[in-house]
Amino acid sequence: MELWYTEKQTPNLGLSCKVKETLYHAKTDYQEMAVLDTIQFGRMLVLDGMVQTTVADEFVYHEMITHIPVSTHPCPRNVLVIGGGDGGAVREIIKYPQVEKVTLVEIDGQVVEASKRFLPEISSALEDARVEIKIADGIEYVRSLEDACDVIIVDSTEPVGPAVGLFGSPFYEGVFRALKPDGIFAAQTESPFFNADLIRTVFRRIKTVFPHAFLYLASVPTYPSGLWSFTLGSKQYNPLEPEGKYIPQDTRYYTSQVHRSSFSLPRFVRELLED
Ligand code: SAM
Repeated sequence: MELWYTEKQTPNLGLSCKVKETLYHAKTDYQEMAVLDTIQFGRMLVLDGMVQTTVADEFVYHEMITHIPVSTHPCPRNVLVIGGGDGGAVREIIKYPQVEKVTLVEIDGQVVEASKRFLPEISSALEDARVEIKIADGIEYVRSLEDACDVIIVDSTEPVGPAVGLFGSPFYEGVFRALKPDGIFAAQTESPFFNADLIRTVFRRIKTVFPHAFLYLASVPTYPSGLWSFTLGSKQYNPLEPEGKYIPQDTRYYTSQVHRSSFSLPRFVRELLED
């Protein structure tokens, strides 16, 4: 008998994967979680019916949400990740020798535990001595900080449940305050095909708070439409002229050329950002 998992990416479109085995399934305090072993993408983390990451394509998302902002900063000593309990973003950030501390603030401790147990390729760096894990709401955590971080990365779920506030203006104002005077912020901001209104709204919010706002793109096969956006807010540095002297060489998607080209937007995406 064949077992298939389908994510209904929109009411009219699904991504279906043939499943070898369901490795884990739980209802946590925050969401329904599953780890599936799929034939096409390997192990897959699913939250509330939405694919979060898979062993086969996670490198694209995790490299792009981290290396673009971190390599833009000349000295990224103190980095904060909100969400990202699978550990993939943290794994990329500790590749920078200048990074002294990474704080991961994940609301759901069970995501961290399941990722350590079932997704070791992604979560390996969570045990690194420079990494501190806090199980807390990132919105409240950011509110408690001032002039503290060089880079803040929001590796969140879609804007549902506890992640809704991570897409709102008060949160972006908190992120601005939590950053040092030359700080940089990046967040995943969904699909230009299926979430155009969200991108339009979030980009305007970030542009209102930060002196410089940019949108960049990457191709992630398991995310709805395959084309994914990230929004970057910067107090000072221009990501198109990265000041960081260090670029990790052990990446599979990110290169200095990809860094540049990811900011070249198709016309229909550029139009979303126009006033
Ligand atoms: N790469 C993914 C994507 O775009 O689909 C995101 C993966 S990561 C597992 C997202 C994490 O954000 C989840 O584990 C979720 O528990 C966490 N999260 C959601 N809202 C949060 C909040 N307010 N504070 C901290 N973490 C939050």
